Amino acid sequence: MCGVIGVMGHPRAVYLSYLGLRRLQPRGQESAGIVATDGESLVQKRGMGHVKDVFTDAEITNWPAHAAIGHNRYSTAGDSTIDEAQPFMQQTKFGKVAICHNGHLPHTAEQARQLLASGHGLVSTSDTAVVLGLLSQSEKDNVVDAFIDALSQVEGAYTMLLLTRDKLVAARDPYGFRPLALGKLDEGWVVASETAAFQLFEGKYEREVLPGEVLILTRDQAPQSLYPFPTTQPAECLFEHVYFARPDSKVFGSPVSSERLRMGRRLAQEHPVSADVVVGIPDSGMGAAFGFHEESKIPLRLGLTRDHHMGRTFIDPNYEIRGLKVKYKLSPVPDLLDGQRVVLVDDSIVRGNTIMEIIEMVRKAGAREVHVRSSSPPVISPCYQGIDTKSKDELIAAHLTIEEIGREIGADSLGYLSREGLLWAVGDPEGKRHCTSCFTGVYPIRVEGGTSKNQHEMVST
Ligand code: 5GP
Ligand code: MG
Repeated sequence: MCGVIGVMGHPRAVYLSYLGLRRLQPRGQESAGIVATDGESLVQKRGMGHVKDVFTDAEITNWPAHAAIGHNRYSTAGDSTIDEAQPFMQQTKFGKVAICHNGHLPHTAEQARQLLASGHGLVSTSDTAVVLGLLSQSEKDNVVDAFIDALSQVEGAYTMLLLTRDKLVAARDPYGFRPLALGKLDEGWVVASETAAFQLFEGKYEREVLPGEVLILTRDQAPQSLYPFPTTQPAECLFEHVYFARPDSKVFGSPVSSERLRMGRRLAQEHPVSADVVVGIPDSGMGAAFGFHEESKIPLRLGLTRDHHMGRTFIDPNYEIRGLKVKYKLSPVPDLLDGQRVVLVDDSIVRGNTIMEIIEMVRKAGAREVHVRSSSPPVISPCYQGIDTKSKDELIAAHLTIEEIGREIGADSLGYLSREGLLWAVGDPEGKRHCTSCFTGVYPIRVEGGTSKNQHEMVST
């Protein structure tokens, strides 16, 4: 998963991109970068780690540019070195271009081999570099057509931004797996993975960039939209609503916090329980915990606190403290838990390690019963569309029944929100707009070892 932002036609394009990237930091913490243009040349700065550590104040304020693109990386493909930090920049026959990408292209290995065999260099090992390679060797006579040409040759999830001296082009794959919102600035335009990125500097939310849309932004002209790809049934990512997006964002046009409230309410309807307190697991389980509390009328308590200051801590290999990684982050409040029948609400259970440690922690703090509720259905299959879910072997729900999982993690009871319930909560009760592959193992696109969905076959328009 990654975060992207692009600003066009604003004299503080770099500063706004930087602020936006900081807001999008939860989407990727491996590396960050910005490429910006003053209309003459493109300038790039990338680094490993957090946005605040990659850029100095002086760089951000003294970088003249009216357009910029920025990226936070959370790798799904390729290595994790500075070479993979985006945006990538390359000299092409169209001049210098830069691109950045949120998503995953699972079938680019062969194309990478062919590009290299035919003498084209690639800027990195990642799937995104292949798009830049295909663009550079396209026979089209302008950069927008070459970008479209390159994207037509790849399959998978992409929300991609392209920057040239005078254009910012935003593209979303026809399934629309990953989000992209368009905002209007006091001067110019902004596109970003989530609206919270530009809420900070009062960008006005206009609309989503649509699945299959290629949006061209320039300094002087109105935005122009092209729809060059065959259309298909959209498959927006449900996990963005459940876990990934910030609670202060709209994602795919929907307000995340309200959706999480609905998930929690529905969860309480589907899996009611007699208990004394509801405790949300910070931060991502809190939205659903509020909903569970409202529906069940069971008091909500901050029974777990999240430590924002621990940072990285040295783990002494000779002195083992069980669940130390979870304990760095979360600390129980014994006063609120002692003697109580507790409902723990989290957004998801992936490998099951986190919840297992938390249950133990809550019991040690004196809880009498611990009931677990997850606001997503069981995760049974890996994601090939841009979320770094683990391999099937590591997914606890891929191998055990719900009763077995409950026993394994040490819960007195366990309940997952149903797929129908989740789709209802995100306003898509018939499942017409969302990808459910991590909950079903049925994929909209071709994947190794997975099933493809016939109804998702490409239809030409
Ligand atoms: P697990 O069951 O694998 O130990 O972890 C589940 C926890 O990880 C949940 O609290 C959930 O909020 C969080 N989580 C879910 N998906 C992701 C992800 O893609 N990346 C990270 N870093 N955490 C995730
Ligand atoms: Mg969590």
